[in-house]
Amino acid sequence: MDLQLKDRTVVVTGASSGVGLATARYLLSEGARVAACARDAGRLSAAFDEFSWADKDAVYLASCDVTDQDATNSFIAGTLDRFGAVDGLVCNAGRSLMATLQDTTDQQLRDEFSLKIFGVLNMVRSARSALNASPHGSVVNVNAILSRQPELRLAATSAARAALLNLTHSLAEDLATEGTRVNSVLLGLVDTGQWRRRFEEAGSELDYEAWSAEIAANRGIKLGRFGTAEEVAFHIVSLLSPLSGYTTGATIDVGGGVGRYV
Ligand code: NDP
Repeated sequence: MDLQLKDRTVVVTGASSGVGLATARYLLSEGARVAACARDAGRLSAAFDEFSWADKDAVYLASCDVTDQDATNSFIAGTLDRFGAVDGLVCNAGRSLMATLQDTTDQQLRDEFSLKIFGVLNMVRSARSALNASPHGSVVNVNAILSRQPELRLAATSAARAALLNLTHSLAEDLATEGTRVNSVLLGLVDTGQWRRRFEEAGSELDYEAWSAEIAANRGIKLGRFGTAEEVAFHIVSLLSPLSGYTTGATIDVGGGVGRYV
């Protein structure tokens, strides 16, 4: 199926690994232009080395901390200089804080909200007029099932994710008046750099597959495994497509059935 993304420009934050990198790969394979950022420019550039098959002129890489409005302004200005448009924005940059409320400091709580809220708001503010100038402006916020189903072991992250989901609905309503759609993808547990790092820190005697299957079982994941970054990227790219032109303010769960809400 032609997703009608050829020659469209899509900005992807947190693109040096995991979901962001898989999204960039999918977009490039669809013939889209990709403007990608992460804080560590060296790691970003090394990750994009895998795209030797893609048109080099279709890629723009920049170092950008999405919590810094000046940095997001420069990143979008650079994207416009390079490609002249922004048709899609994927707000994916992030991480989670594994800690109960008792173990979370006030500064950590502030940092979580700063990343989840301003990491999206800064990007939307910077790209808003360009998105609205596009005939198919679309924003996808990468969020978590935790936003609807908090977990004590991720207390601050759950609260910040809930705030982002709420904010995403306001953004959807606000930008709809200008023709830009805003949707969310809610992740369960996805096999990315985050989980590989946790596996190494855990020092488990199990191999990664057995270790992750045990976590999947303990967390009640119905499909019994972690998801893959590609399984998330598919939904992100679908929401960016003009073929999703009547969908805004929506959420798609990619959690293997872990969501227990109705
Ligand atoms: P990874 O850890 O694999 O990648 C995170 C990316 O975000 C990296 O490119 C990192 O690069 C970048 N990043 C982090 N902080 C910033 C920042 N302040 N500014 C710009 N870039 C930043 O993450 P995943 O692919 O696993 O996760 C993608 C998104 O999905 C994240 O928002 C995550 O919280 C969310 N999520 C993931 C889940 C999972 O199980 N994997 C579950 C639920 C939600 P650098 O460090 O160089 O900046």
